[in-house]
Amino acid sequence: MSNSSQFHSSNEYENIVNSKLNDAQLRQNLQSVMKTLKQNRKNTIASRYTKWEELRELGRKVKQNALSKLPSLLEKFEQNAIKNGFKIHWARDSKEANKIILSLMQKNSSNVILKGKSMASEEIHLNAYLKENNINALETDLGELIIQLIDEPPVHIVAPAIHKNRYEIGKIFKDKLNAKLESEPEKLNGIAREHLRKEFKSFKIGLSGVNFAIANEGAIWLIENEGNGRMSTTACDIHIAICGIEKVVESFEDASILDLLLVPSATGANISCYNNIIGSPRQSDELDGPKEVHIIMLDNNRSRILSDSHYYRSLSCIRCGTCLNHCPVYDKIGGHAYLSTYPGPIGEVISPQIFGIDNYAPMLNLCSLCGRCSEVCPVKIPLAELIRDLRSEKAGEGRGGIVGYSEVHRNKTEKNSFAVFANIATSGAKWRMLLWQVRIFGGMGKIFGNLIPGLNLWLKYRSYPKLDASLHSRVKELKGVIYE
Ligand code: SF4
Repeated sequence: MSNSSQFHSSNEYENIVNSKLNDAQLRQNLQSVMKTLKQNRKNTIASRYTKWEELRELGRKVKQNALSKLPSLLEKFEQNAIKNGFKIHWARDSKEANKIILSLMQKNSSNVILKGKSMASEEIHLNAYLKENNINALETDLGELIIQLIDEPPVHIVAPAIHKNRYEIGKIFKDKLNAKLESEPEKLNGIAREHLRKEFKSFKIGLSGVNFAIANEGAIWLIENEGNGRMSTTACDIHIAICGIEKVVESFEDASILDLLLVPSATGANISCYNNIIGSPRQSDELDGPKEVHIIMLDNNRSRILSDSHYYRSLSCIRCGTCLNHCPVYDKIGGHAYLSTYPGPIGEVISPQIFGIDNYAPMLNLCSLCGRCSEVCPVKIPLAELIRDLRSEKAGEGRGGIVGYSEVHRNKTEKNSFAVFANIATSGAKWRMLLWQVRIFGGMGKIFGNLIPGLNLWLKYRSYPKLDASLHSRVKELKGVIYE
């Protein structure tokens, strides 16, 4: 994985997307898991949630409320968390967050840190930074462990190794952990458990992310399914939690509403296996738990996003990953093709805003604007609308003010094509004439299309649509109603 703030050209995107599209095994793995995740979500919502849409609206309001008073909620969270015995650190960016963690490691003379799953730690490229400073960061989440063994970044924000099937994972464990070649999920889990137990026996510092930080209580809430998060945060002397500032909500009730939306959206489960609500470090009458808990409040351009009256909605994300699972582009190319810590629809919305739009401009083209992501987002973020608006930003025709914008990212062909399209699409007569021509000459579309630069690339992976009757004529046929 490249550095997040590194420039990524259109050619780089084209090459990686083509290589992923040509990887039949990857596409098969992705599509099979995505299908299961989508079906599980659908079944759970249908069988357990009679008022899912009302709950989504409630979730949207909870996040809206939290974002509208985020500065005061952050202060409240800090005051209550300090009262509870937590140590709070503020990090303006990745550099500051990494330095805080390194200084905690050095102060405690520790050169190993055990990590539960944390996308914020991926965002700041913590593992690479610690490695440069001779500190070993060991992943304890099963998916994170698999990709760490093969030196890859997460492919998905919830399921980091979703691109590998059980046979491939068995081979990785055999090659990297000298384990017996297995492919049964229980046996693979057993290998990972045995490997990690050794590490859990003697570690001093553990690290986790945060799902919700609760201002009224000064507490943090971590959701996980494997128990490694609980081990990483309770069996150590020092627990470090990285929390994006947008994770703060007002009350425990608010966090509970978001939890009800998050879990079925992420995996299709009714409830997660482990809910770790951490209200303080170890108390004097307790036998275990960390003696110190440090919470790093990470900004990394989030306050800049918050100050934008349009794009601030990007910060409502609860990282469920369902927009990735439902995206018809993501399930063909997987997360690595986005070249960012955050892939898929939410990645296209937040990567340019966190890491700079110049660096990620071509990423915004990895979207068909079908709108499925907006339909399934549990907190109703209008993802497709935001992606479309960010495309205007990169073309220099948006509201302005996006991080890292210095030049127009649109070539002449693209500009002229859209001008021609706008001219035709805004005139009823021209549009009808075009459709008439497509119907008459449609059969030859593939032949002519292949001669047109731009369209030929599009047609390489898609079949030309067959149009036989217009919507108007169908409506007339079906209902006898004439629309003008
Ligand atoms: S944008 Fe919505 S659907 Fe996508 S990860 Fe965030 S909360 Fe989930």
